[in-house]
Amino acid sequence: MSLEADLERARELSVGELADAIEAIGFECTRCGACCKAVEGDDGTEEHTATVFPDEVRRLQDAGEEAYDWRDVARPMPYGVAEGENGPEGETFEWALQTDACGDCTFYEEADDGTGACSVHGDRPLICRTYPFSVVLDDETAAAQPMGEAVDREGSVRAHECEGLGREIAREDAEELAAALKKRAVRELEEAIAVRDNYGPTDADGVVVHDSEGQKRPDGSRLDGR
Ligand code: SF4
Repeated sequence: MSLEADLERARELSVGELADAIEAIGFECTRCGACCKAVEGDDGTEEHTATVFPDEVRRLQDAGEEAYDWRDVARPMPYGVAEGENGPEGETFEWALQTDACGDCTFYEEADDGTGACSVHGDRPLICRTYPFSVVLDDETAAAQPMGEAVDREGSVRAHECEGLGREIAREDAEELAAALKKRAVRELEEAIAVRDNYGPTDADGVVVHDSEGQKRPDGSRLDGR
């Protein structure tokens, strides 16, 4: 199945059917912050890693009282980047939300009682708006989706590990989530197609991010200077 065929299918998704599936699975955010924090695993702490699109980075740059630098918001997705003689080097194909010293999302704030909050809630990226759900367009490629293993599935909607699953959700909220889920599925494929079409080999030093707008340095500036 080509990316173009997947995009066609994503555009044809029924928001009503996605909302039915979300209602059947059930979800209410408990504000535990698990989806915004580093993961403690057997091999130590794994940094929070969530994809953010270039236009979303720009929106987040303007989300605070003062404009954020690109690097305050995003970092090159670490896959494909390795430590070289003169620092990190390699080519990668996505941006990830920036993390703090603990490996949590840079926008995550935790109150003394342990409840979490997103400091850019109104501008948070699609991946955050739609957690813990993803869409299955094609069963054969479902396993390769960025959110990994699913713990539940209803029709085209997969649910990933989250303590808020199984809780009753109002129809209005399910529809809002479903609309964001469709938007994300379309946006992910549009991004993937543009990354593929814009790709060109580079001999630039350090880290290069190939995104839908071209080749960029870690500070978001374009290699071609445009
Ligand atoms: S942007 Fe907000 S919702 Fe998304 S991971 Fe960061 S703190 Fe969580």
